[in-house]
Amino acid sequence: MSTAVVVGSGPNGLAAAVSLAAEGVQVTVLEAADEIGGGTRTSEGIVPGLLHDHCAAIHPMAASSRFITEMGLSRYGLRWRRPEIDCVHPLDDGSAGVLHRSVSDTAAGLGGDGRRWTMLFERPVANFAAISDSIMQPVLRVPDHPLAMARFGAPTALPASALARVFRTEQGRALFGGVAAHAFRPLHYPLTSAIGMGILTAGHYNGWVVAEGGTQTITNAMARLLEDLGGKIETGVRVDSLSQLPKTSITMFDLAPDAIARIVGDRLPQRISRAFTRFRRGPGAFKVDFAIEGGVPWRNPDAHRAGTVHLAGTYKELAATERDIHAGRMPAQPFVLVGQQYLADPQRSAGTIHPLWTYAHVPHGYTGDATEAIIAQIERFAPGFRDRIAGFAVRSATEMARYNPNFTGGDILTGAKDIRQLMFGPRGTLKPYSIGVPGMYVCSAATPPGPGAHGMCGYNAARAALAHVLRTDPRTTSLPGA
Ligand SMILES: Cc1cc2nc3c(=O)[nH]c(=O)nc-3n(C[C@H](O)[C@H](O)[C@H](O)COP(=O)(O)OP(=O)(O)OC[C@H]3O[C@@H](n4cnc5c(N)ncnc54)[C@H](O)[C@@H]3O)c2cc1C
Repeated sequence: MSTAVVVGSGPNGLAAAVSLAAEGVQVTVLEAADEIGGGTRTSEGIVPGLLHDHCAAIHPMAASSRFITEMGLSRYGLRWRRPEIDCVHPLDDGSAGVLHRSVSDTAAGLGGDGRRWTMLFERPVANFAAISDSIMQPVLRVPDHPLAMARFGAPTALPASALARVFRTEQGRALFGGVAAHAFRPLHYPLTSAIGMGILTAGHYNGWVVAEGGTQTITNAMARLLEDLGGKIETGVRVDSLSQLPKTSITMFDLAPDAIARIVGDRLPQRISRAFTRFRRGPGAFKVDFAIEGGVPWRNPDAHRAGTVHLAGTYKELAATERDIHAGRMPAQPFVLVGQQYLADPQRSAGTIHPLWTYAHVPHGYTGDATEAIIAQIERFAPGFRDRIAGFAVRSATEMARYNPNFTGGDILTGAKDIRQLMFGPRGTLKPYSIGVPGMYVCSAATPPGPGAHGMCGYNAARAALAHVLRTDPRTTSLPGA
């Protein structure tokens, strides 16, 4: 029987482990932390009974993940819940750009921009079932539905600033810009529309869902499935060198490329070692979880029903904050993302006290305290918020790396999503999961299709590994579709 070791138990590590185990490989996962899950953990805190997602919270991409649906994670307790409204981007005058699951409902709320929103999203959403597989694969391969992909792909190549100019209203422009800013890139850079278009299209298809009981249930479902398939997980094992690893046919790293370069050392071909060491990191996130008495007193009525609220003011202000953090300057009013998962999943609250998930975009490695800036930005759109705070917990940009080394400097996307790293992953290659050492692979969010709790980097890397094992070890069972 073939054997594999997976280093790291984030969603991609677990997805790789499950995908390998499902094909008869004997898999062991080694995790440095005491709990599994990496960026997909949830725990009770601040006030007894309150459930807080530590990192990933909103899952439009995971809900469309071939890995998650194919592996039947619903049998292991994963259930999606939809907020009434997906996302609201409020402005100072009390109005807002409002994102509904349905394209037509969203368009209806955008006045003069409704037609433009429909033109941009109606077709990709109608074709989503056909194109989602291609979106979740490395970019440089022939897509299964080239025409539909070409139609979807054309606007994604543009800077978000160019697509934002399509919209005439402040609400439409800000709504689009806020989602594009998930890329943590200055919005006038090429390809900055790609991540936003992906999230918006997937969201219109599936909704901006949350996991019932917290994001941890995605992790738990994968771990239970892995156990059923005979896989093992060991926690509290930090891997610093190859000498710690057993001899296996496959070694899979759910890690950032710079960490892999340190672990694999001299065995890494020099050109790959150079590329991994020079891997570029993105700006940071500064996270604050709140316990809020009675919820947030939003000025905009739709924000009371929204799973996610984007706070930056106008598109112009948003674009300036993203430029600032990229240049290493902390803006006075940063882009703040707010998650109200409890609205779709009320079991996360304790009576009238609710958990509020927030983080701000900050410069890479920001050493300051952004708590007050986050509170002030919420207060700007929800006067009286401050008085409702029953408690809060902070994870700064620098603390992110202690929590999970993949998030060095607060870089929660595991690498800057510039053109090269977004398209190819850690190095310029058509084999983004290979690290140039036979049998060894990278499967983290540093590889295509990139960040999120969808597990598709792990699934794709496992397929690459299985194709290799099939060639070299004929005792392994066949790989469907490989
Ligand atoms: C604040 C925040 C908000 C986010 N919001 C969202 C969201 O709403 N939706 C979404 O889809 N995504 C979101 N993300 C991103 C998402 O969490 C990540 O993209 C995802 O977790 C990446 O998964 P991964 O498997 O590649 O790696 P990770 O989740 O980073 O897991 C890597 C694992 O490897 C372990 N490890 C590291 N080094 C070693 C070592 N040397 N030895 C052994 N183990 C090691 C780590 O402890 C960790 O468990 C967010 C992230 C953060 C931090």
